[in-house]
Amino acid sequence: MATRELDDDQLERYARHVILEEVGEEGQLKLLDAKVLVVGAGGLGSPALMYLAAAGVGALGIVDHDTVDITNLQRQIIHTTDDVGEAKVASAAERIEELNPEIEVVQHRARFTAENAMDLLAQYDLVVDGSDNFAARYLTNDACYLSKKPLVSAALVRFEGQLSTYKAYQPLGDGKPNGPCYRCLFPTPPDPNLVPRCDTVGIFGAVAGVMGTLQAVEVLKEILDLGTGMAGRLLLYDALDQTFRTIKTNRDPECPLCGDAPSITEPRAD
Ligand code: ZN
Repeated sequence: MATRELDDDQLERYARHVILEEVGEEGQLKLLDAKVLVVGAGGLGSPALMYLAAAGVGALGIVDHDTVDITNLQRQIIHTTDDVGEAKVASAAERIEELNPEIEVVQHRARFTAENAMDLLAQYDLVVDGSDNFAARYLTNDACYLSKKPLVSAALVRFEGQLSTYKAYQPLGDGKPNGPCYRCLFPTPPDPNLVPRCDTVGIFGAVAGVMGTLQAVEVLKEILDLGTGMAGRLLLYDALDQTFRTIKTNRDPECPLCGDAPSITEPRAD
């Protein structure tokens, strides 16, 4: 097989990556070959998509059924005032095209559901969960576990965010799984009446920028196999205190998805 190289334009565009010993031309080619699916083009998806596009992740799929609303613009920085009323996937694709025309953007204008989850994931190497509800988070978790794809997940409310990577499908050297899945940590969805939603309790907009950008960092590290990933660890961010905490997380042997006697064999939303 012929050795691939970056062309002159790529060497210029990605010069600050290529100069990093840990990335180099080889790493940049890996990024250009990577296919990442981002679920939700909202507060988390906006910065995640922009940094992944800027970094040269070759193919970016975006799943979102929604249109841009004026209330989104306080934090969903991939969309502009002119985009209000437009499909979020189309608006995000436009912005990515302006930032880096080299990226292939695939617009999936749909809800992420139990019916389409496995088919959507089959086209990608890795998934970013930028959804804003528990149903979608369980679905992405199940679909990623069942199709053995890494999932970089984050969530936020008010002034706080959390982030982890789920690769429970992947046994480590000692045969133990590589950390828990999302269901191990959050086995049951909270009562919908008690769940704080961003439209009722608010979100400090820039917190979405912090967490979505951290998702992009973790995705790029996963693709490049760099440093220490977030599998088996949960990052907690408190913007008011300006503190980050990382706690160790463990698989739950009783987990219905990745536990010792699994009962979930298809993605579920609850
Ligand atoms: Zn689990």
